[in-house]
Amino acid sequence: MAGKTYVVEHLDDELGPWSELEYLTIAKECHEAGARFCLSSVPSNLVLPETLKAAPGLTAEGESVEVLYADKKSRVCLLDPSASKELSPEDSDAFEIFLFGGILGDDPPRDRTSELRKKGYENRRLGPKQMTTDTAVRVTRMIIQDKLPLDKIPYVDDPELRVNKNESTEMPFRYVVGANGEPIMPEGMVELIKKDTEKGFGDLF
Ligand code: SAH
Repeated sequence: MAGKTYVVEHLDDELGPWSELEYLTIAKECHEAGARFCLSSVPSNLVLPETLKAAPGLTAEGESVEVLYADKKSRVCLLDPSASKELSPEDSDAFEIFLFGGILGDDPPRDRTSELRKKGYENRRLGPKQMTTDTAVRVTRMIIQDKLPLDKIPYVDDPELRVNKNESTEMPFRYVVGANGEPIMPEGMVELIKKDTEKGFGDLF
């Protein structure tokens, strides 16, 4: 079976520390799973953080997915919170490229995935709840490569993160639960959230 490719189309103008940590995690996990990770639509004026440039398994492209995979359109599956069908292990035969929106989560969701939907790809959903991009890629890999049905993947919604003695903050997303019983988040993310919360949470989402 040909290896799978996970494409994240970067849709934000900037690439801030949250996206950097998410993309690094996607690169690392894809690399370990023998899959490719392509970050597409990276604007030419955007300087990629050194950590991402050095990440094995990551290819950054200035072109959009439409151009990069023009000859494989029917083999592309868009992961889309508004799709009518859920992704299932059987979809691994039909699709070779899995496409995600490189968008920071917003609450309530603004449906920026629509920018990719209007390109006309087949689409699939990963349940009704918004996930972070790295979680969506992780869940897709578990379904497509590990052949786990969606309803067998352990998850937690809206976990609380303790920021300090007095405060905690709720992450308004669905996460996969790891072997230690905790939601899986990119390395360094908890520290970053704590730091940002101390600065004032208002402009985060
Ligand atoms: N607020 C959003 C969602 C961003 S999440 C929006 O404006 O659309 C980033 C990406 O993860 C989405 O573009 C989608 O590809 C994927 N994703 C997140 N949750 C998903 C779900 N429940 N089903 C399918 N894909 C999902």
